[in-house]
Amino acid sequence: MSETIIKLENVSYRYPRTKKWVLKEIDLEIHKGEFIAIMGENGAGKTTLCQCFNSVIPNFHAGKLQGKVTVFGINTKECAVSDLSDKVGMVLEDPEAQLFTTIIRNEVAFGAENMKVPLDEIRRRIDWALDIVGLSEYINCEPTALSGGQKQRLAIATNLAMMPSVLVLDEPTSQLDPAGTRDVYEVIRELREREDMTILIATHKSEEIAEFADKVLVLKEGRVAAFDEPRVIFNDEKLMKECSIRPPQVSELANYMREKGEDLGCCPILMDEACDGVERWFRGEQA
Ligand code: ADP
Repeated sequence: MSETIIKLENVSYRYPRTKKWVLKEIDLEIHKGEFIAIMGENGAGKTTLCQCFNSVIPNFHAGKLQGKVTVFGINTKECAVSDLSDKVGMVLEDPEAQLFTTIIRNEVAFGAENMKVPLDEIRRRIDWALDIVGLSEYINCEPTALSGGQKQRLAIATNLAMMPSVLVLDEPTSQLDPAGTRDVYEVIRELREREDMTILIATHKSEEIAEFADKVLVLKEGRVAAFDEPRVIFNDEKLMKECSIRPPQVSELANYMREKGEDLGCCPILMDEACDGVERWFRGEQA
C-alpha cells in the first residue's frame, strides 16, 4: 500500500453557532495516487468533508472540530489554509465562481504568481496545465468564451499550476451536460496516468464513478456508511436505498431482471459488462 496522504481519526465537526454535528466520528485514510469518490444524498456532509482536506475547516469555518485531520503529516488544527494551498487543490461546483481574470493565460498563472513562483517556471506550468486539460489553443482567449465544461477544465488548470499532489473536486460536473462531464473525467484520468495525482471527488455521477474510481466513500448523515470498491458499493441495493444513491443504470437493469426471475449471471456496473451479460442471456448461457 502506498503512502498515506490524508488521515482522519475520529473526526466530528459542527459549524459555528450550530449544535448539530454534521460530520460524525469519521476514520479515513487516503493513499497516494488513489481516486476516491464521496457520495451521499444532499446534506450528508460531502462538501464539509472536502473542506477538511485543505484545512478550510477548521481554519476558515472555525466551528468545533473534534478528532484529528492530518494532511501530508500536518495537523490541520496547527496550520494555516495557505500552508496546504500548494499541496491540495480545490475545484468547486460552479465554474463561473472560480474564474475572475479576462485572459486564460492570466487565470492559470494567478495562483502560482501568488506563490511567488519564478516567471519562467510559471510559463512552463501554464503550458503544461493547459495541455493536460486540453485548452492549449485557448491560451489567449477570454474565459467567458468557453463552454461550461471547458470552464471547469480551466478551473482544474488553475489549480494544477500550483502543482498540488491532491486535487479535491466538489461536485464539479453537477452543472455540466454529459459531454462536459465526460471531458472532466477524462482530464482526471489523464492526471492520474501522467501525474499519479491523488483525487477526491464529491459527486452523484455513479456511471462515471463506476468506470473511474478506486473506492467510494458513502456518507449518511455525516457518518461513513461504507468505504469500498465501486463494484461492492453499487451492488449493495440496501445501502443504495438507505443512502439515496442511484447506482449505474446497468446495475438497476440487472436487479430489475433478477426480480423478474431473469438472471444476467453477473452484477454489471459498466455498460460493457451489461452488454456481455445480455448477450449470454439471449443465448441462454446465463448462470
Ligand atoms: P452535502 O455536500 O453532502 O450536500 P454539506 O456538507 O453541504 O452536505 O452539508 C452538511 C450539513 O451541514 C447540512 O445539514 C448543511 O445544512 C450544514 N451546513 C453546511 N454549511 C453550513 C454552514 N456554513 N453553516 C451551518 N451549517 C452548514
